[in-house]
Amino acid sequence: MADRVNTLPFFYGNITREEAESYLQHGGPSSGFYLLRQSRNYLGGFALSVLHSGRYYHYTIERKPNETYAIAGGKSHRTPMDVIDYHSQEMDGLVCLLKKPCNRPKNMQPKVGPFEDLKERLIREYVKQTWNLMGAALEQAIISQKPQLEKLIATTAHERMPWFHGAITREESEPRLQNGSRSNGKFLIRQRDTNRSYALCLLHEGEVLHYRIDRDQANKLSIPDGKKFDTLWQLVEHYSYKPDGLALVLTEPCPRPDGANGLIGPPQYPRDHLRLTSTLQNAAGGILTRLRNVSIPGRKKDQGRQHNLAGNNNTYETRVPSSQPGKEAMPMDTEVYESPYADPDELRSSSVDRNHLFLEDGELGSGNFGTVMRGIYKMRKTEKSVAVKILKNDDNNPSVREEMLREANVMQQLDNPYIVRMIGICEAENLMLVMELAELGPLNKFLQKNKQTTLKNITELVHQVCMGMKYLEEHNFVHRDLAARNVLLVTQHYAKISDFGLSKAVAEEHNYYKAKGHGKWPVKWYAPECINYFKFSSKSDVWSFGVLMWEAYSYGQKPYKGMKGNDVMQMIESGKRMETPVNCPAEMYDLMRTCWTYKADERPGFSIVEPRLRQYYYDTAH
Ligand code: AMP
Repeated sequence: MADRVNTLPFFYGNITREEAESYLQHGGPSSGFYLLRQSRNYLGGFALSVLHSGRYYHYTIERKPNETYAIAGGKSHRTPMDVIDYHSQEMDGLVCLLKKPCNRPKNMQPKVGPFEDLKERLIREYVKQTWNLMGAALEQAIISQKPQLEKLIATTAHERMPWFHGAITREESEPRLQNGSRSNGKFLIRQRDTNRSYALCLLHEGEVLHYRIDRDQANKLSIPDGKKFDTLWQLVEHYSYKPDGLALVLTEPCPRPDGANGLIGPPQYPRDHLRLTSTLQNAAGGILTRLRNVSIPGRKKDQGRQHNLAGNNNTYETRVPSSQPGKEAMPMDTEVYESPYADPDELRSSSVDRNHLFLEDGELGSGNFGTVMRGIYKMRKTEKSVAVKILKNDDNNPSVREEMLREANVMQQLDNPYIVRMIGICEAENLMLVMELAELGPLNKFLQKNKQTTLKNITELVHQVCMGMKYLEEHNFVHRDLAARNVLLVTQHYAKISDFGLSKAVAEEHNYYKAKGHGKWPVKWYAPECINYFKFSSKSDVWSFGVLMWEAYSYGQKPYKGMKGNDVMQMIESGKRMETPVNCPAEMYDLMRTCWTYKADERPGFSIVEPRLRQYYYDTAH
């Protein structure tokens, strides 16, 4: 949303109330001249400043938990732009109608707040340190979880601020402020008995004043009778430019005695690391699901695994419990985000020793090749929960064996967090394909059973699939069987593409695969050129991705329900497409329709579809 608002000519970004008034002063009608700015106290909120009869009025446009925007107590709207449109027609509590926007002076860009500036660097550093990721895995983590990470950073960033001194007592805080420079307005914030309240300690004429910062029911922070803020850093920013009830403005942060001097100071492992991760745990509502061990940089992985997120080494679980709907574990929190062979000490070998593979009771699924079982694979230093595809002993059908080996051959070449990775092949009593486990199973079935899944959650998942497909496209592979049934969930917030039984590597120069003839094909997912000319490319995968999106936003319904393959082909040829699923966001249906562009040449590739989907996901994910 912020990105869209940024392009409005009357949006000024992070300016103060006073700055807004000085812009409104110049020109425009005396009543109803207005501008929009970023809220300095509510995360993701805005402020509307209006001139009326020579006076200035400021209204907060709050972002509500249900993703709508409203002036406090007023009607809710989908976007801040809609709030403005509405109040150009209806006063509805405003001092006057909004008549004319006060546009930014020429060449002025919306002002970027200090936090916005730091956000990118902070997120990168945070992901690096918390999950010990590098390179592509780091980039993919940031792209796929940006909205969640932004939220996390916003609510925990104060821990890295020089003025945040943690849980020290009032008595301990005073000498810290009295030491060194004793300038008026020198300040620090300390945590009081619980994480729910803080104190602002401020040096004034040689004396230390202590202001309580309480958290209300809605989680907003404020000094008694003061303005409310979502985060401590917003509170500090506010009181740094305005006393607003304090004895004076905040001037100089009092440095911590440990020398930590800023946002991205030297990493302080392990204490700082564990503290940050436990905050993450709190912010995420207590992640209980499939959490991978915290590995401390500089330690070997097996040592790192002694530490669970709470820093308590008695409760580490090797067994991964089931995901709990509603708990927002991030993909990086799971065991299967990073490549199983990321640790150079675990040698990459495509053959799995049967003696190290333990099959468990209970089938995960089945197909014409046989069954998929759950198992444990004991590697050199760690053990992994795995899924094992077991070829049924059917000597009469060597082609199934070849098919499975072909699938293994493709999977072996792929390494991406949003693709089920192969761990190896095991030749024993049966031929077995050992893979990463995605225990919540196929996306279509999950959504059929979990109708309460939010649209935001669905968008997050289809975006991850799109990231996996973009990777395939970049590496010249065509999937040829992309459908919701072949997307497996690790958690409710982590999807992986699976089933590479029909996949092919394509030559870079042709970039398509020509099938020799018509096979047992998932026709309803296939683009016209697949059916008419047997031609498969990343563009035909894009068509299938459109159908997959349709399935996801329909909560796992069957596409072209009740229709035969031939009827579907006729429907497509006649220019008709499936209707939008009920409640599907217009932007997402629009994207599906683009994926169903008849001519492959005119259809966008994943390099275009993914950023479009990403933009929508970021806009709506807060
Ligand atoms: P497939 O023939 O590869 O589509 O596998 C058949 C079924 O087995 C799937 O629909 C899943 O329910 C299950 N399955 C396959 N691979 C995995 C995996 N890696 N993790 C968990 N379940 C799986």
